Amino acid sequence: RAIPVHGLLKGVVERFQLQAAKQELSLRVHLPPRQDVCVYGDEDMVNRVLDNVLSNALKYTPPGGRIDVRADVAAEHVTFIISDTGIGIPAEDLPHVFERFYRVEKGRSRRGGGTGLGLALAREMVERMGGDIRMESEVQRGTTVYVTLRRAEEDAA
Ligand code: ATP
Ligand code: MG
Repeated sequence: RAIPVHGLLKGVVERFQLQAAKQELSLRVHLPPRQDVCVYGDEDMVNRVLDNVLSNALKYTPPGGRIDVRADVAAEHVTFIISDTGIGIPAEDLPHVFERFYRVEKGRSRRGGGTGLGLALAREMVERMGGDIRMESEVQRGTTVYVTLRRAEEDAA
């Protein structure tokens, strides 16, 4: 139930490192200073959420771009922050990206289509864990996703 944040961050970045290198993207992880901080949640679900968000960052960032993965640790919450320097999302589309099957103009990504389900599923899982997911974006500048989960009161040894 209590999952160490360091392991989650390292794991997700490891899973995408090879693909990032192939796409000529710089993928960096920034670990919080305390290595015993934990969040409450289902480990498989948290990993699926982070994978969905990071796969978007890779899919919608052109070569030469950069993706940063970090966690902001507060007293009662931990926020995972995934930011990219990709194509961004127009302001009028941003409120809709968590809807099932919603995609910002089909086929604008160089790797072609997804189904538009990734973020809808991510939000469902985050809400099931009592957390929150939100997104900020600017066209041609990039996107940042914030996934907030409850911090475990007792950190890992
Ligand atoms: P799937 O995840 O099901 O393979 P998808 O990636 O198209 O397909 P979502 O992950 O739900 O679907 O994202 C919805 C839409 O939001 C995407 O189609 C894309 O237009 C936009 N989007 C999501 N993440 C980003 C991002 N990091 N940068 C730019 N656009 C994004
Ligand atoms: Mg996706």
